[in-house]
Amino acid sequence: MAESRTPVEVVARAARATDLADLDAYVADCFACPRLVDWREEVARTKRAAFRDQEYWGRPVPGFGDPAARIAILGLAPAAHGGNRTGRIFTGDRSGDVLFAALHRAGLANQPTSVAADDGLALRETRIFAAVRCAPPDNKPTPGERDTCAPWLHREVELIRPTLRVVVALGAFAWAAWWPALRAGYGVPPPSPRPSFGHGAHWSGTAGPELLGCYHVSQQNTFTGRLTPEMLDDVFARAKLLAGVD
Ligand code: SF4
Repeated sequence: MAESRTPVEVVARAARATDLADLDAYVADCFACPRLVDWREEVARTKRAAFRDQEYWGRPVPGFGDPAARIAILGLAPAAHGGNRTGRIFTGDRSGDVLFAALHRAGLANQPTSVAADDGLALRETRIFAAVRCAPPDNKPTPGERDTCAPWLHREVELIRPTLRVVVALGAFAWAAWWPALRAGYGVPPPSPRPSFGHGAHWSGTAGPELLGCYHVSQQNTFTGRLTPEMLDDVFARAKLLAGVD
């Protein structure tokens, strides 16, 4: 599998991916953002003390879940010691603990925990991916890194387009990243003015999936009570209703 080392190569390889397995392999071999490549590899080298005996993934983290998903959950980027360690999105960190517990309560995951890539977790009717596929310092990718990574997201949306009905955007960054994906995946121009992000915000257009806003499952939100389990349950109940998932 060829490595992607420039934004032009990301565009070319994303377009060449014929299915999700193909795309995931291309994503995992991406080196197009020098700052993020340095960071993901440094974190994988230095590790957190609690994980010092583990081999970190230290690469971009592909999407995960049902290839025929009707619901997509769009996050910001992998966590340095979560997805960047385990190789699976929202796996091995506190954000994932909250998210997968909620997906399990909603009947969209077969287990409430997500601790390792081989832990048996399976999603039903749901796929999870991030707007940026490498862990960024301070969880803050630059606009340039967001744009360089966008073709991976856009191609993933195109590949699940036949079944996709609802996108749940976790946070304002993901909400903003959705509009270019809508254009790329469905040929739909973003609405003008663009709807503001908010928890419970809902947008639907003439084509493409409906969009729901949800506060990010970050510790900052869940520890402070800004986002509660009940609020997450409401979002996923609504997503299921809109997507026609039992
Ligand atoms: S953030 Fe995206 S484009 Fe940049 S190196 Fe990672 S996978 Fe590649």
